[in-house]
Amino acid sequence: PPTAIVCVGMAGSGKTTFMQRINAHLHAQKEKPYVINLDPAVRTVPFETNIDIRESVNYKEVMKSYNLGPNGGILTSLNLFATKIDQILNFIEKRSVPDPEEPQRKPIKKILIDTPGQIEVFVWSASGSIILDSLASSCPTVIAYIIDTPRTASTSTFMSNMLYACSILYKTKLPMILVFNKTDVKDAEFAKEWMTDFESFQAALREEEEAGSFGGIEGGGMGGGSGYMGSLLNSMSLMLEEFYSHLSVVGVSSMTGQGITEFFDAVDEKAKEFERDYKPELERRK
Ligand code: GDP
Ligand code: MG
Repeated sequence: PPTAIVCVGMAGSGKTTFMQRINAHLHAQKEKPYVINLDPAVRTVPFETNIDIRESVNYKEVMKSYNLGPNGGILTSLNLFATKIDQILNFIEKRSVPDPEEPQRKPIKKILIDTPGQIEVFVWSASGSIILDSLASSCPTVIAYIIDTPRTASTSTFMSNMLYACSILYKTKLPMILVFNKTDVKDAEFAKEWMTDFESFQAALREEEEAGSFGGIEGGGMGGGSGYMGSLLNSMSLMLEEFYSHLSVVGVSSMTGQGITEFFDAVDEKAKEFERDYKPELERRK
């Protein structure tokens, strides 16, 4: 079966641009992916899709007729879409094997999925779980957690972002790749270093404290990691070491295409891990 890549991340992290880039990469390799857009609120999708949630539900109409705000509109649209997930899995299944009527069309190897800007609506809703669980029960499914690298360069935003990724890992129970995007603006080496070398993270922590630039907290320079934020982040990062050990990390630029090959290597690795570690667990939970 094909591997499904589900792109999640904070609004503005670059999910859609990343989707566009990996889609173009696969096209260039003559491996046309199956592309699904699950963001009902997006105005334009800059790539061709096989399935677009906007074709089956009208987000604006949903908001109007159920008297909902933007988040409720997205959630209700996802709920309506989730009721059709069986049909979608059928489409995917058909496209995953050679079609005798169209022998020139190769079976798909990758499914790319873009998700709503409001990450929590997808990850924490019942319909989001239904969509992910259904996918994972029919093909290896990998989460690509997209991070806005330039905006996560301070120790405190970095830590918040990692904790969020951690919660998604435990919620979805699917293999995850951390994609540090926008490396054309800010190189991701610092992040890789912080994730592998605790000492270097602590050093950065100390430096920021001394510079008094600690997330804008009053009376910075809390001194030698003894301040509230410093000691909190210190102890959290020990816990995160365990979390990091389960992840693949890649730096990419969706703008220039840098790092995209490494990303697909990570996908292959995580797909294998899915078959080995996650699938038996999913079977057991049924
Ligand atoms: P989404 O909300 O997560 O779907 O994010 P978008 O794909 O819409 O991107 C948000 C903004 O980040 C846009 O202005 C993009 O042009 C920009 N962006 C996305 N990826 C990159 C990148 O690799 N490098 C740079 N410099 N900008 C990027
Ligand atoms: Mg988007």
